[in-house]
Amino acid sequence: MHNSRRKFIQQTILGSYLGAQGSLLFAESPTKIQSPSLKKAKIVIVGAGFGGAATAKYLKILSGGQIDVILIDPSPSLISCPLSNLVINGQMQISDITKSRELLQQKYGVRVIQDTVERILPEVKKIVLQQGMTVPYDKLILSPGVDMIWDSLPAMKDPVLQNRFVHAMKAGSQTLTLRKQLESMQDGEVFAISIPLAPYRCPPSPYERASQVANYFKKYKPRSKILVLDANAEITSKSTLFKKAWSNYYPNMIEYRNNHTLVDVDASENALMFEVQDDVKAAVLNVIPPMRAGDIAFRSNLANINKRWCEIDFLTYESKMISDIHILGDAIQSSTQTPKSAQVANGQAKICASAIYQQLADLPINKTPTFSSICYSVLGEKTGAHISTMHQFDPKMQSMAVVPGSNSISTVDNAQEYSAAIKWAHDIWSDTLI
Ligand SMILES: Cc1cc2nc3c(=O)[nH]c(=O)nc-3n(C[C@H](O)[C@H](O)[C@H](O)COP(=O)(O)OP(=O)(O)OC[C@H]3O[C@@H](n4cnc5c(N)ncnc54)[C@H](O)[C@@H]3O)c2cc1C
Repeated sequence: MHNSRRKFIQQTILGSYLGAQGSLLFAESPTKIQSPSLKKAKIVIVGAGFGGAATAKYLKILSGGQIDVILIDPSPSLISCPLSNLVINGQMQISDITKSRELLQQKYGVRVIQDTVERILPEVKKIVLQQGMTVPYDKLILSPGVDMIWDSLPAMKDPVLQNRFVHAMKAGSQTLTLRKQLESMQDGEVFAISIPLAPYRCPPSPYERASQVANYFKKYKPRSKILVLDANAEITSKSTLFKKAWSNYYPNMIEYRNNHTLVDVDASENALMFEVQDDVKAAVLNVIPPMRAGDIAFRSNLANINKRWCEIDFLTYESKMISDIHILGDAIQSSTQTPKSAQVANGQAKICASAIYQQLADLPINKTPTFSSICYSVLGEKTGAHISTMHQFDPKMQSMAVVPGSNSISTVDNAQEYSAAIKWAHDIWSDTLI
């Protein structure tokens, strides 16, 4: 990778690059700016995943601890989707990707509440928690990730089937279920993964999963096969790299079929049902349904784009539907060529935190926000590859646009990029939580 590009990405992970104004904000502690509106402000954040937790931390840093930040999530810790395919493969344990949020409280003074937000009452600026508590806010930030569109697969509305034909696109119990299902397979049996039409969370991750399941089969079930049944016309990310890796490392083990739109699942036959093609039976079905913004955004009428994604202002991440509600991460309608990724959620978190801080401190809002996107995938036995771009706000489009010439993609997968992938994950965990 070109040196300046690598430096840009490192700076972005460290949170020091937000354009001229942004870097100044992170470099010089703004504790010097004492403001009654900062001290009075109550910011409530729904979702303590990659987007929400980073927003909480950077609001505290920017305001020198003056802003009251409440972070709400039902899960006791962050279980990382990045690297979760290596848990499915057996190279890592779930404990390796389970990260504590304690330092957000102890070091930064974020108030963390373990609960689910049931309802938003925008007219009185309050949220209602599952356990009954009501919490007022001045600004509400949502980073709820994605939920599945079960209506598109009628049989899968049954929660029993959801736990049997798992998607494992939210790391946690389903990651472990899929791991156990792989372990229970007999040598020679088939694993089938169905991929929805883009956009969905982390474009290369289903293909990385196929690679890592193959890596496991090669060692322990060499007669088993993998069917990749893709609704898209082509592998949606790093296509050449995946195809090369599959034929080099796993010859005749992975079969890729494009244009396979899943319409339902036949549980009695353990089969996938497609719009056009014949049903496909397999011992393990990894069903990844189409996705939309997380339920809380959907139910609150914030997912106004195709009833799937939330439309926001790319300078502040404020919803176009309801004022004083900001949304970021996978739940939003992405800008051009922007994948739904942890790296992007992290960049959006810093822009959103800066804009809210600037609004409260009566400072001008940064009009040239920037973030980087980098997605690593593990393809072979400890070999990796990346794809990356830089994005900057385009005033004409009122959206983020790829900086011309900033695209970078590995030509081959190798051990150095595998190490970089592992390092990237540790860096983003630290930047989000420590
Ligand atoms: C297999 C896989 C591999 C991936 N690998 C990579 C990678 O290598 N690099 C990369 O950049 N990205 C990767 N991603 C994508 C990345 O995980 C997501 O893009 C990222 O997590 C999005 O952040 P988010 O904040 O939008 O959502 P999340 O991180 O999912 O956080 C959402 C949080 O909101 C909480 N929540 C939801 N609803 C409520 C509610 N009503 N009340 C309270 N809390 C709520 C959830 O519990 C969750 O903790 C991968 C994804 C998968 C599935």
